[in-house]
Amino acid sequence: MQFQTPLPERFNRMDMKEMASRVSSLRSEFGNRLVILCHHYQKDEVFEFADYTGDSYKLSQLASEREEAETIVFCGVHFMAESADILKKGDQRVILPDLGAGCSMADMADIDQVEECWETLANLVDPLDILPITYMNSSAAIKALCGREGGAVCTSSNAETVFQWAFDQGKRILFLPDEHLGRNVGWEMGVRLDEMPVYDPHQEFGGCAADELRDAKVILWKGHCSVHGRFLPEHVDRMRETYPGIRVIVHPECRYEVVQKADDWGSTEKIIREVTASPPGSKWAVGTEQHLVDRLAAQNSDKEVYSLSGFVCQCATMYRIDLPHLLWVLENLAEGEVKNQITVPPDEAEWARVALRRMLDSSPAGAGLSLSRVD
Ligand code: SF4
Repeated sequence: MQFQTPLPERFNRMDMKEMASRVSSLRSEFGNRLVILCHHYQKDEVFEFADYTGDSYKLSQLASEREEAETIVFCGVHFMAESADILKKGDQRVILPDLGAGCSMADMADIDQVEECWETLANLVDPLDILPITYMNSSAAIKALCGREGGAVCTSSNAETVFQWAFDQGKRILFLPDEHLGRNVGWEMGVRLDEMPVYDPHQEFGGCAADELRDAKVILWKGHCSVHGRFLPEHVDRMRETYPGIRVIVHPECRYEVVQKADDWGSTEKIIREVTASPPGSKWAVGTEQHLVDRLAAQNSDKEVYSLSGFVCQCATMYRIDLPHLLWVLENLAEGEVKNQITVPPDEAEWARVALRRMLDSSPAGAGLSLSRVD
């Protein structure tokens, strides 16, 4: 595990304007040898320097298509930088400006725990009868396990298609690491709640009875997003009372009870599409990360766009990527020193690519995705 070193003291004395101007001039010096990617949840001070913005998979894909870029600076969290390293072309290197930018959900599934769970399930269920499917928000090691064991990766846009791919083979699913996404997608596809037990890695047999695991159609790993998990059904009620006629749209990492009450739900890209395409005067309550909601509100000034919750629901780990850290990695790079490079071991990357390829093969339209380098 790598740890973030404190930035030199001089960064405390620089004001934001000065830092922005230095980032800007370094950015120009690098030209097309560098590409900066920013996830939608990133704060504005770094978002403005993005060459590409999007969700994690789309960004990794776009970066690998920019073959002339020797360096990919990923303003996101650790699993996203790993995905970029898995999909990179040739000698491209991937930098995460702050090594402390992890993802609380991805951290809820440790590879040792998942291997133990897989072994437990293999003793209860015919291993040929079950496929591991992991959400993009997981470590490279878990993606690789899915690749090795016949499973796949999915995003929030194509989870339903990937689930169907598994069901069409007559398989049950172990879904990692977000119980809410798994439950929401399973329910949408007609799987009953009692056919989706939750496996808690901190308990023997995941805290489930052997029969529950044997009869399950989807076994949900006990993990969640600490941002989307904060939205509650009462937030939906309160917004509807306060703003009659408001439409509620939420991300599928939200709890089942919230998704049930919402008018619509879908991936980050779907949320952006729906709000942007709605007629002037529309009112929206959006259940996702605060920076994205604020940006949607600013870009749709002819509409009313609110966060579903009264609290500020920010991704605290994404928040660690700030202007000082972006400047620090760029300055070092300009001096020939590569800081915070994220590298996935080659055998892990190979199996993770297999799991990613299955995702694409199971989604003929690619859910808007392509993966030219996966072979
Ligand atoms: S919003 Fe949630 S799932 Fe996304 S990076 Fe932050 S903690 Fe992870």
